[in-house]
Formats: sequence, structure tokens, C-alpha cells
Amino acid sequence: MKILFVASECAPFVKTGGLADVIGAVPKALAQSGIQARVMLPAYPALKALVAGAAEVWHAEKLMGGPARLLACTSEGIDLLLLDAPHLYDREGSIYLGPDGKDWTDNAERFAALSCVAAAVGIGALKKWKPDLVHMHDWQAGLVPAYMRQKSGTPPPTVMTIHNIAFQGLFPPAMMKKLGLEKRHYSRDGAEFWGHLGFLKAGLAMADRITTVSPTYARELMLPEFGMGLEGLMRYRRDDLLGILNGIDTDVWDPATDPHIAKPFSARAMGGKKASKKALLKRFGLSPGKGPLFCVISRLTTQKGLDLLLEAVPYLVARGARLALLGSGDKELETGFVAAAHAHPGTVGVVTGYDEPLSHLMQAGSDAILIPSRFEPCGLTQLYGLRYGTLPVVARTGGLADTVIDANEAALTAGVATGVQFAPVTTAALEDAIARTCDLFAQPKVWTGMMRRAMKHPVGWDSAAQEYMALYRSLADPAT
Ligand code: ADP
Repeated sequence: MKILFVASECAPFVKTGGLADVIGAVPKALAQSGIQARVMLPAYPALKALVAGAAEVWHAEKLMGGPARLLACTSEGIDLLLLDAPHLYDREGSIYLGPDGKDWTDNAERFAALSCVAAAVGIGALKKWKPDLVHMHDWQAGLVPAYMRQKSGTPPPTVMTIHNIAFQGLFPPAMMKKLGLEKRHYSRDGAEFWGHLGFLKAGLAMADRITTVSPTYARELMLPEFGMGLEGLMRYRRDDLLGILNGIDTDVWDPATDPHIAKPFSARAMGGKKASKKALLKRFGLSPGKGPLFCVISRLTTQKGLDLLLEAVPYLVARGARLALLGSGDKELETGFVAAAHAHPGTVGVVTGYDEPLSHLMQAGSDAILIPSRFEPCGLTQLYGLRYGTLPVVARTGGLADTVIDANEAALTAGVATGVQFAPVTTAALEDAIARTCDLFAQPKVWTGMMRRAMKHPVGWDSAAQEYMALYRSLADPAT
């Protein structure tokens, strides 16, 4: 079976968040079951080296105002189709934002172009390769079914995955003409969303099936608190909506072989974790202490609930715990955490920016990872935490609720706990979770048991790959 993945990022080539990790990992997991997934991505500057050695498989003289080519290559075990359109993608800086920190003004054209070419490939534009199914990821790929319906030929079935419904790709309806979209798509059961042209809305309305990245988030999407205006559509399509829990790349995230950590360790031989803790304390200028070392590795946004953590810092410090935070994003939060580090030298350490190797060392060297998200479609850092014996302390929402087993009395007695959950998402509940974590940490036998269990928790892609495969088969091969 041949699947075309359409997405705006893919690890390890270009990444701003969890979406990239998923796009980089799922095709590899599917390949083991005989599914060939090719990933279509814009050829951003970060992919220049690959472009140089790739083969042209398609071209257009004019795509949203300039020439475009589609290039095929394989790198890091992933089959890529790179959309090379310099007028849209060849620019330095963030893939979504201009130097002023605001969305590129032509993001509608940039990602409509991606969807438009993916639609052409879906219909059969490539000589030697026609997908049996197109799998679109997030709003950047949402227009694929609309463009396919405008072309002659039989479109293959489509799946639309929501990695985060907060990002919807909303633009003025007047853009339709410029993007080459027929007027008929601007309807309630098409791309219209409260007076806007909605890329995600279009994909959700027109795809054959919808998935999201955890079963709990799939249920939450039907509620006004989480659906961001799309809850009605989600309820309407509930029979086509499926939550498939993300996994992680267990080769890249393996404490037994990770090149970024101080010393290898595993569930059987956990001693090496201490060396990373020492290196981490040094890197963040923290002093050793009796309480647990918490870490945060995150985009700094209100989604992630880090404003609540900022309020809870004095409590965390008073409990004898320490905090190492790596993050970037909201300037107010950045300033707030840097000020907290100044106010609590040796106890709170902050590194602002994006640092992949450091994130590995933090997962290896910390005792617990804090994730107080207000909503979390799946979340990956708690899965890395489980794998590295860094116990997740999480808000009970989305994928966090599905992956961490709270250390309540029953779970501790049954020997199944792997972390701490809290609800509601308030500063008081977060402080209570910090208190419970400190109490558990003070019982070395209990804590070590939880660590060992967490490290054995299955976090790979095997189960998700089976679920995606079953979904693809049900659509592209209904006879089976
Ligand atoms: P989201 O996609 O909402 O940002 P996820 O938990 O799904 O959240 O994925 C975040 C990914 O980005 C993880 O791989 C995490 O390790 C990584 N990450 C987030 N912030 C940083 C940072 N400042 N430095 C390095 N890696 C980061």
C-alpha cells in the first residue's frame, strides 16, 4: 500500500514541535509492515543539501506566482517529496513566522501550494507513483481534498489528522480566487468557518476519516472548552473520528545509547542516570539537594500552563525541590522564568531557546518532568520522561491523561503507577501535585519502583502503526 503524507515539518530535517517528530517516525514504523509512505514537505532552506541531490519528478511553470518543482529523495530512512518553490519557501528564519515574529503574510499561498501539489500527486500526476491514500496533517495540508475535487480523475481516500486544533489556518474568503479554489468550496460543509476561509475546517469537512493523536483528545474535541469553534463539526463527524495515541522514536530516545547524555543507563541498570543529573545541575548552576529535580522542556505558552508553574515556583522552592527549565516562546513567560532564576539562585535554572541535545540531557538527568498543560493533544515530553525514568507530573488532559498512571493509593498498591496527574489545571492543584511528588521522592523504594515501571512502559510506535494500518486498509482496501 502506498500512502502520501502531507505536512509542513518532519524531524530531523525541520522541526518546531511534536508534529515533526510524528511525521519523522510514523513512515518508518509503517515500512516495517510493508506500507510505503512518502512525505511531501516544502523545500525550506534547511533541506537545501537534500534538494541538490534529489531527482525532479514533476514541475510547474507557475504555482502561486512562481515556478515549482517536486523532487524525490530518501534521507534518514524517509522517502521525501520536496516541493521546491523558492518564491514561497526559500527564506531564512522560522518556517511559519517572518522576522517581525508574525505569520508570513503569504502563508495562505505557501501552504495552499503544498496542498495543491499534493492533490495533483493524489490524482496521479507522477508517472511512476500514485498513492492509494493521502494522509494530511494539520491545517497546512487541509486543502488537499478541495483541490482534488477540482481535478479530473478519481481521488484516493483521505485521512486528516489534527495535531493541535488551536492552529486552524484562517484567512479572508477573498483569498479563494488567488488560491485557485472554486467558490463552491466556501460552504458550511466545506471551507467556510465563521466567515473565514479555514484550511483545517476544509480538511475536517471533506476528509473521509479524521484522526487525532490521543483517545482523550478525540473526546475533548467534541466539547466547547477544547474544540475551538469546531466542536459542532467534530460531534457531527464523531463516527469518523478516531484517537490514535502517538509514540516516540525509541532509537533516538534511548537512554542506553543516547549520545547527548553523560552515561548510558536502562531499567535494569539505572546507576548511569546519576551522572546526567550531575551534568545537568552543573549546566543550570543548581546545587544538589534532598528534594527532586524537576525539569520543563517546552514551548512557553499559556497552552502549556507555564504561567501556573511560574506562580508555583516559590512553593516548589519551599518544598526543597529544584527546577531546570528549557523553553522559548511567549516573551512575558521567558522574562518571568529568568527573573525566578535570579530570585532563587542555585534552586531554579533557566535556559531560553531551542536546544535538542540539552533536552536529551534534561530527560536523562531530571527526577521528574512537569507538564501543566491546559490542553495537550498528545504530548511527547512525558513519553520521553517515561523512557528515561523521569516521572511525569501532568495535567489530566488529552494525551497526558492517556499515558501517565497517577500514583494514587490504588495504583501504588497495584504496582502500576508511573507518575502524577492533577486536575483542575490551577496553581493550587499544581502545587498539590508538586507536594505529592516530593512525598513520593522521599520514599526511595516507592520512587525507584515507579521509575523502573515507567521505563518499561511501551512508548514506541508499534501499536499506533497497527491502528493506522487498519484504518488505511478499511479505506483503501475495503474488501479486507
Ligand atoms: P508541542 O508539539 O505542542 O510543542 P509536544 O510535547 O508534542 O508539544 O512536542 C514538543 C517537542 O519539542 C518535543 O520533542 C520536545 O522535546 C521539543 N521541545 C520543545 N521545546 C524545546 C526546546 N526549547 N528545546 C528543545 N526541544 C524542545
